[in-house]
Amino acid sequence: MAMYKAPLRDMQFVLNEVFEAEKVWSSMPATEGIDLDTVNAILEGGAKIAENELFPINLSGDAEGVKFENGKVTTPTGFKEAWNTLAEGGWLGLGGNPEYDGMGMPKMLTVLFEEMLYASNAGFTLYPSLNTGATILLDAHASDEIKQQFLPPLYAGQWIGTMCLTETQAGTDLGLISTKAEPKGDGTYTITGSKLWITGGDHDLAENIIHLVLAKLPDAPAGSRGISLFLVPKFKVNSDNSLGDFNNVNCGSIEHKMGIKGSATCVLNFDGAEGIMIGEPNRGLMAMFTMMNYERLSIGIQGLGLGEVAYQSAMDFAKERLQSRAPGGAKNPEKPADPILVHPDVRRMALNVRAFNEASRAFASYVGMQLDLSKFHEDETIRKHGDNMMALMTPIAKAFITDRGFDATVEAQQIYGGNGYCTEWGAEQYVRDARIAQIYEGTNGIQALDLMGRKVFSNRGEFVKIFTQEVREFLASCADLPNMQAWTTTLETELKRLESLTETVIAAADKNPAEIGAASVDYLNLFGLVTYGYMWARMVSVAERKVASDTSGFYATKIKVGNHFLKRILPRTLALEQQVLAGADVLMDLEEEAFYVN
Ligand SMILES: Cc1cc2nc3c(=O)[nH]c(=O)nc-3n(C[C@H](O)[C@H](O)[C@H](O)COP(=O)(O)OP(=O)(O)OC[C@H]3O[C@@H](n4cnc5c(N)ncnc54)[C@H](O)[C@@H]3O)c2cc1C
Repeated sequence: MAMYKAPLRDMQFVLNEVFEAEKVWSSMPATEGIDLDTVNAILEGGAKIAENELFPINLSGDAEGVKFENGKVTTPTGFKEAWNTLAEGGWLGLGGNPEYDGMGMPKMLTVLFEEMLYASNAGFTLYPSLNTGATILLDAHASDEIKQQFLPPLYAGQWIGTMCLTETQAGTDLGLISTKAEPKGDGTYTITGSKLWITGGDHDLAENIIHLVLAKLPDAPAGSRGISLFLVPKFKVNSDNSLGDFNNVNCGSIEHKMGIKGSATCVLNFDGAEGIMIGEPNRGLMAMFTMMNYERLSIGIQGLGLGEVAYQSAMDFAKERLQSRAPGGAKNPEKPADPILVHPDVRRMALNVRAFNEASRAFASYVGMQLDLSKFHEDETIRKHGDNMMALMTPIAKAFITDRGFDATVEAQQIYGGNGYCTEWGAEQYVRDARIAQIYEGTNGIQALDLMGRKVFSNRGEFVKIFTQEVREFLASCADLPNMQAWTTTLETELKRLESLTETVIAAADKNPAEIGAASVDYLNLFGLVTYGYMWARMVSVAERKVASDTSGFYATKIKVGNHFLKRILPRTLALEQQVLAGADVLMDLEEEAFYVN
């Protein structure tokens, strides 16, 4: 059977030892009071909910799925109770603005809480994830009056938020949306149109659903410059926050899909619903990016959470599964065969999964830290550095973590052999649940384009230089650790490779714009590997300083798993470099008609 135990020791290691969170927090007025006791209480409380409430309804939620009957959407058994637990414990406002009843916890901590939720029940966790994204958007772009009215009930879980972008003809290209917003003359708008694949578009978890909807004003410019953003509640809200009339937001149907079956994916028809504009006319897509950037990191964490639970479950299986003998002779002579972990290939798979999971956890917290610094720090230079790193790392966090998360679920499934293919063991559900994370919230191909085009090409590699300088400063700080020499030398080679490749692609793209899209996915994967090399170097350096006085084996294990990454995973950059250097012509040479089967 699948199993999940929140990796609290590892989380505390990342937060307290690798990134020295207390030091970071004490440097900013908004977070200076947060101490380790509070952090540990939050992580332990989160672990209890994940292990005891969400995990037990994961398999059943997948089997039961969401129902759509007589126009009503019903979530699987136990989901409503789980939502109430999060709501009553104040968990839905964990990172929320304290001015509006949020708890104000920093992102580098809340990412770890999110990991536990996704690991224990990804289908369920999309509801709180979208809700958090909606509150972040409103906090950043709504008027004080709207924040006062909407944020407290959203933080309390009394209401819940969604993100309504996609339409049948408008997926990646949101400039094609046709949902209309007509001014009513009283400051509100009539919203008419149909949205597709809306996560949590309708359900029975909360008393009201607050939709954040992209639509076009009658005189809007064409394309993405003519998109505005509207808040459209399922039930109208009176000034005292009591619920008024149904607002003509109708669920047309729900999707039947490969995974995340506990998450309601809805067609939503806005049949003349009343909406309130958020932000400025025609600037809605920019405001929506605040939510999308949060969701991109969150969806990255979906990949990590599923990779982690897949790993833990596969190891639980591997302990018991006896097949064949160890290469050098029986390890377990009194039994008919040895446990499968004696085989180098099974270890290869397990170490791949573990090395990526642990680096993803550190990376998620690192990106969270950049977000906190960019939001809260008083020093302009530090805020700017955080901003730049956030911009650079968000597409990597979404695409690289979810790609490696999906690989992790497949590799973990492989460890089970045939049992991994059968539903009883739960491994196949993780594969199905992880797959969507590579597709939604902007496909991973689009993330790579964002990295290569907007974050690298358009600033002539400036953010890349900021990143490589940060890594070099860190490597210099390890000069007193002889065992870090291999890391320092290898990472320096990788930084040079990244810099030189960046220059080559920028020069090629100056001549041929197709070079950006041709290079993007391989470039992102190479960048991801170098970033994970940096994460591992930071973890291993802490372990090297502590290993001699440690009797638990924790730091020695870190060093060994890190070594697997250094020796057997990081060299993948060599192939990726060659793929990027192959350029666009190889892809563009074949005539379009030759692709089609006639
Ligand atoms: C389960 C589920 C839940 C979802 N939840 C939500 C939600 O809550 N809210 C919401 O608004 N949407 C949601 N979506 C929609 C989701 O975000 C889109 O599916 C996704 O952004 C991709 O759009 P598309 O499916 O239309 O693909 P398309 O845009 O049609 O893309 C098809 C392929 O072409 C590629 N492509 C397209 N344009 C380019 C380009 N310019 N350059 C290179 N490659 C390109 C894509 O990468 C992809 O491989 C959800 C979807 C699913 C399946």
